[in-house]
Amino acid sequence: MSEPAPSTEIHSVLSEGRVFPPPESFSRAAHIRSLEEYGRLALEARRDPDAYWGARAREEIFWKEPFRTVLEWKPPDARWFIEGKTNLSYNCLDRHLSTRRAQVAIRFEGEPEDRRNLTYGELHREVCRLAGGLKSLGVGKGDRVGIYLPQVPEAAVAMLACARIGALHSVVFAGFSAEALQERMKDAGAKVLLTADGGWRKGQVVPLRKNALEAARQVSTLERVVVLGRTGAVAPSDPKEVSWASLVSGQPESLEPEWVESEHPLFILYTSGSTGKPKGVLHTTGGYSVNVSLTTRWVFDLKPDDIFWCTADIGWVTGHSYVVYGPLMNGGTTVLYEGAPMTPGPDRFWDIVERHRVNVFYTAPTAIRSFMRLGREWPDRHDLSSLRLLGTVGEPINPEAWIWYREVIGGGRCPVVDTWWQTETGAIMITPLPGATPTKPGSATLPLPGIEAEVLDRHGRPVPRGQGGLLFVARPWPSMLRTVYGDPERYAKAYFGEQPGKYFTGDGARQDEDGYFWLMGRVDDVVNVAGHRLGTAEVESALVADGRVSEAAVVGRPDELKGTALVAFVTLKKGVEPKGELRAELAEHVTKLIGAIARPDEIRFAEALPKTRSGKIMRRLLRDVASGRQTTGDTTTLEDLGVLAALRGEEE
Ligand code: ATP
Ligand code: MG
Repeated sequence: MSEPAPSTEIHSVLSEGRVFPPPESFSRAAHIRSLEEYGRLALEARRDPDAYWGARAREEIFWKEPFRTVLEWKPPDARWFIEGKTNLSYNCLDRHLSTRRAQVAIRFEGEPEDRRNLTYGELHREVCRLAGGLKSLGVGKGDRVGIYLPQVPEAAVAMLACARIGALHSVVFAGFSAEALQERMKDAGAKVLLTADGGWRKGQVVPLRKNALEAARQVSTLERVVVLGRTGAVAPSDPKEVSWASLVSGQPESLEPEWVESEHPLFILYTSGSTGKPKGVLHTTGGYSVNVSLTTRWVFDLKPDDIFWCTADIGWVTGHSYVVYGPLMNGGTTVLYEGAPMTPGPDRFWDIVERHRVNVFYTAPTAIRSFMRLGREWPDRHDLSSLRLLGTVGEPINPEAWIWYREVIGGGRCPVVDTWWQTETGAIMITPLPGATPTKPGSATLPLPGIEAEVLDRHGRPVPRGQGGLLFVARPWPSMLRTVYGDPERYAKAYFGEQPGKYFTGDGARQDEDGYFWLMGRVDDVVNVAGHRLGTAEVESALVADGRVSEAAVVGRPDELKGTALVAFVTLKKGVEPKGELRAELAEHVTKLIGAIARPDEIRFAEALPKTRSGKIMRRLLRDVASGRQTTGDTTTLEDLGVLAALRGEEE
């Protein structure tokens, strides 16, 4: 039985007539230069996926030993590039030494405005020294190493050093508590933890060393905690503690990489926890490297002279793939910023773009919405003319925010790439290609060639264009996760339990008449109102389109009559009064844009919305608040518990 069709009206209203062709400069010089070329590649990949991916793998990275088989697929288990041997640290560093040893690889800026540049030559040396240091602690191929560091160059050095010796890294975002760190280190069975005395955040020092030592006391596998002096000098006082400086001193400046099999595990990364308990997503070397390298070039058009700034923290997959590995594999320059976006003032980001002459900028909708809320006067104070391409990731982007981003930050000249992907996918999956794809605000557009994205109903049948359904990927791709660390059953059930052999993303989506994908939010967030399936993302976009609303989160609450009633949590732009009639006006506005079916039954004004530490709205908590339930799920990844308390307080 297929679900009734949800309204498709919203996209035609919110994006009406707003199709942006690829700028001519990109159609001339980007990797893929027309929709026809894209179509040809997509067809080629569909007809002979092994040939297609084999060619990509040979093109993107250096193989010490060639692979003989492209793919062995025994659902849900995939093995890519069998018998191939490579090393990711070699592909990021050594490969460039003969051509760009003196080129800057990392441009670092600390929150207190201290700056440091590392050339490819220097980065290579630091990586080799730390790799040697780790070996001296007994870390070898297959061992797990925790990384709990601020966004400083040593964080990238740490990841690359692990990759160099075949150890798996597991990066934990430095904003997480000792408890969250401990839980992840235990799950990963980490042997060594790399941390710092502290890191700067909003003018304060985050007590990383204290948290790390606390975790080390609770995790029996953790033998050593290596502490970097970021905010001061390190004087080890704990029996497990070693200073970073002493560990690397005297280590050789060059160390042969460990050539690992393509399927050798590269890292474990815990997902951000928007929907439940974080999962330890495991990625392996060859396939991950290929897709990350390729997408950085194809999607961001990254050239070696480019200065690329991805604002994500290395604690998230976006930081892994597009702060560290993607730009370095392509020989670019990556910007690393340690601190908060609004410190010391609301224009810190634009100041960085101006001073570092950033060419390609990649951030999240949550950041764009908060900049929008503050008004264009902040970016307008800066020269942003170095920018040539803008990207977004993490949540569906409201068309209103997309347009603002393009006009105000991109000066109307930069293409915007709305990239859909997940921790599990390793690399970008659905995205415009800047030289080929006409964009529509709010749509992630088309899957990359070789990515067989499909919208299906619960029974695995394709849903007609314009109708909402579940987003699947019908064929394996090189950078897919290989398992949930230590829990292969959860892997099989969560990702391949819906349809045999097809990867289930957990997201809802619809394809429009052009085949473009519109992400509707997580399947759990799709609500059923009087028999109609509604993506919360579209109701939220309609609210944001009012102009007075800064952010909106819409959830369902059980309702006797309608089955589900819609509750909207709304934050307002600076200076807008939360008056009673505004509620009615907003409800009316949604009705006008989507239809009466989407009219919120209740609108609540809030100061802030509960978010994960990666900046995503946690709708599952709002569902509890809306229905007056106690929160039962995992809240360790929530950024600020106070926000939840404030929302509950409003209920009385
Ligand atoms: P968890 O899986 O632990 O609940 P999470 O899904 O938030 O956490 P990530 O892997 O960081 O962890 O996020 C991937 C999800 O983010 C996607 O499944 C999708 O819901 C959302 N997302 C990412 N990029 C986009 C985008 N461009 N448009 C719409 N949604 C996006
Ligand atoms: Mg997820």
